[in-house]
Amino acid sequence: MDSQIERLHFLLIPLLAQSHIIPLTDFAKLLARRGVFVSIITTPRNATRYESIINLAKTANLKIQLIPLKFPGQEFGLPEGCENMDTLTSIALVKPFLDACKKLEKPLENLIEEMEPKPNCIISTNALPWTQELAQKCGIPSYIFQTVSCFTVFCSRVLSDSKVQERVNSDSDSFLVPNIPHKIEFTKSQLPENERKKSSDDTKGVIEHMEKVQKLARGTLINSFEELEPWYVEESKKITKNLWCIGPVSLCNKELAEKLNRGDNKSSIDEHNCLKWLDSMKPRSVIYACFGSLCRISPHQLKEIGLGLESSNRPFIWIIRELDISSELEKWLEDEKLEERIIRSRRGLIIRGWAPQVLILSHPSIGGFLTHCGWNSTLEGICAGVPMITWPMFSEQFYNEKFILNVVRIGVRIGAEATVKIGEEMNRMVKREMIKEAINEVMDEGIEGMERRKRAEELREMAKNAIEEKEEEGGSSYLNIIPLLAQGHMIPMIDMARIFAGHGVHVTLVITP
Ligand code: UDP
Repeated sequence: MDSQIERLHFLLIPLLAQSHIIPLTDFAKLLARRGVFVSIITTPRNATRYESIINLAKTANLKIQLIPLKFPGQEFGLPEGCENMDTLTSIALVKPFLDACKKLEKPLENLIEEMEPKPNCIISTNALPWTQELAQKCGIPSYIFQTVSCFTVFCSRVLSDSKVQERVNSDSDSFLVPNIPHKIEFTKSQLPENERKKSSDDTKGVIEHMEKVQKLARGTLINSFEELEPWYVEESKKITKNLWCIGPVSLCNKELAEKLNRGDNKSSIDEHNCLKWLDSMKPRSVIYACFGSLCRISPHQLKEIGLGLESSNRPFIWIIRELDISSELEKWLEDEKLEERIIRSRRGLIIRGWAPQVLILSHPSIGGFLTHCGWNSTLEGICAGVPMITWPMFSEQFYNEKFILNVVRIGVRIGAEATVKIGEEMNRMVKREMIKEAINEVMDEGIEGMERRKRAEELREMAKNAIEEKEEEGGSSYLNIIPLLAQGHMIPMIDMARIFAGHGVHVTLVITP
């Protein structure tokens, strides 16, 4: 089998956003560890940000390369250097950014034609339907890499079919997602914008196009694991062909250097100081507060976060995104002496810019994660075995909040009520008292708090087992990569049967006499 796999060349195409590039790069490493040669399409600026992690993979003898294509952003009015969604300064730039991504189609087609060896398979993240059409045109099998959970995909499908949300009177009236085993209650204002509207001819056209494109793909890979959401995985399999959970992919990062460089070429802190500070804290005592790579938080809200974290009287690490740093905020931090106080008392760290999230979360001192509920962050919290304080902001993040609170039951909600648009600042304040209360609840050592923590720790073990790499007793996600490699007879059926049988699966081969 090994020599068969070593002849495979997979082409990976992520949307140019951290929440797509990061997990697809992790998945590239998982594929390369199985012997596959992997090429990842990117752009020059993103290549610079990711080259250290790729170089590290190469030193571990993994066959991975980044292929930068010139990004035509300026043709669409984007500022120079704006090649990743985390550099978009306003919501108005999202459309030109996606248009510029689509313009990569022709250069990519030319590249594929000239590629040696020719790709056997194309895997692209869910927001790039044109890549599936391109794969079809080039005659290459393709797969969708889904960056959200089965729970989200399935519930959003149920809502789109049942249209219960169209029957409520106002945006703040709640309704239940029908026909699922958990009690999941939404208001319309918590749904992503495209799911709130009544279906019109316009939206129907877009949905039909997406469904058509989905059918071009041979299958869908989900960054999740079967044991995490078994009912939703099973139901999703009934409505999506070849659906395989292959995550949590972040667990491929085992060494300190891998966890440190993930998502950017350099972290904005000295990791040794950060780790030294974490080492000096009691186990499970520190709150880690980080809100992903896209949301904008106003200076006013940031001040409340700072004061809320401080008033919790717990040690904390607070990440402030580069785009949110303003002279107003810096002046306030200085006048208020918040940073000075927490540094002097060794109570906390403020990190400006990019943080090594997986490295920090995996430290034994982290006891709670204040998160915006992006799916990657949610999974990373699960992998770290920490309870979460949920503060969803936009997109499918309210789905993830409900998953954390009502399905796996490892979180406490902060009380956010409605989504905002990507890149837009929040208009409803979350007050410092709400932050303090939620932190106290998640860190509570009473029966409820301890049970929540126990569940989180059990999930961490399940996640680890799912991705377990040993050939003879691999976990569910490890095994799920085999049919992907075998699809299109890339691995002979007989070898596949042998591998499955080795894992205790009863296999029947149907052949002619
Ligand atoms: N991330 C990080 N450092 C930061 C901010 C984010 O490493 O300072 C990573 C985080 O670990 C996750 C990704 O960026 O893998 C964010 O993806 P997610 O789906 O959580 O949220 P989004 O950025 O799309 O809002």
